Amino acid sequence: MGLVGKVILSHGTEEQKREWLPRIASGEALACFGLTEPDNGSDPGNLKTRAVRSGDDYVINGSKIFITNGTWAKLCLVFARTGGPGPKGVSAFLVPTDTPGFESREIHGKLGLRGQATAELSFTDMRVPASCLLGSEGQGFSIAMHSLDKGRVSVGAGCVGIIQGCLEAAVDYARERTQFDRPLASFQLVQDLIADMSVDADAGRLLTWRAADLIERGEPFGTAASKAKYFCSEAAVRAANNAIQIFGGYGYVDEYPVAKYMRDARVMTLYEGTSQIQKLLIGRAETGISAFL
Ligand SMILES: Cc1cc2nc3c(=O)[nH]c(=O)nc-3n(C[C@H](O)[C@H](O)[C@H](O)COP(=O)(O)OP(=O)(O)OC[C@H]3O[C@@H](n4cnc5c(N)ncnc54)[C@H](O)[C@@H]3O)c2cc1C
Repeated sequence: MGLVGKVILSHGTEEQKREWLPRIASGEALACFGLTEPDNGSDPGNLKTRAVRSGDDYVINGSKIFITNGTWAKLCLVFARTGGPGPKGVSAFLVPTDTPGFESREIHGKLGLRGQATAELSFTDMRVPASCLLGSEGQGFSIAMHSLDKGRVSVGAGCVGIIQGCLEAAVDYARERTQFDRPLASFQLVQDLIADMSVDADAGRLLTWRAADLIERGEPFGTAASKAKYFCSEAAVRAANNAIQIFGGYGYVDEYPVAKYMRDARVMTLYEGTSQIQKLLIGRAETGISAFL
């Protein structure tokens, strides 16, 4: 919701804002962010979906995959190629999902995020008026990247929540459960796991707050967002793993929440730019040399 709502706020016309923002903000209309394609995930600058100008309209053909809210959304922000190859040929369109030619299909069998719909989308001769263009032609890639930079701070915050949840659940359990006539919490090797979670929670929270603070101040925040997203997502997986270890066999079944924390943490190192992509962004910022080319 944030990925789409915030870009309408920053790049939309007054008419686009009036049409969509109240509905998105009230929850009446869910929105989805259609960037990833079957053959282009980490490399969205080479996406294949095409939008061809036809009179006062654009006609869009192509497909998207792994789109959050894809089957529930009333609005889809579709990234499609209007120009030549590479990132500069990409444009963004605000497409109502009841547009003829728009189809969505839920992807079943996910490891985690089981309460959320993830979908494949296909666009077949989907005709939208030129007023659906968000920003100008060729601006789509920079709109997507700007939106993802901010989204990464939200992912970082979500991961801090998972780490904190793991820590609290593990501490409660370790104090309560006894083995060898002593609470688990009294064993040094269990405290080692808890100490790592506690440090990760603090470090992740501070990295996320720093990135959020830069956004609030209107200062450059992209690299800080990548650091927060990278650290927090990897730390959430570590914390969930440690929590399951402390719960023993009880951590592996659904009786306690830690198995769900692990399932839900795992995607965090993948979406909105994988850990490898965040490292390349951080490496580029540090060295001034891009490893993408
Ligand atoms: C549950 C879920 C929800 C999602 N929601 C959305 C959504 O709402 N909208 C949307 O547009 N997308 C969404 N995605 C897609 C997600 O952003 C992509 O899966 C992600 O960007 C990775 O792309 P990919 O899966 O094609 O993997 P690939 O790009 O094929 O990467 C595979 C592996 O190769 C590595 N790799 C790739 N390039 C490099 C490189 N240059 N150097 C080093 N390593 C590299 C990656 O880090 C990864 O480990 C979602 C995905 C999931 C699983």
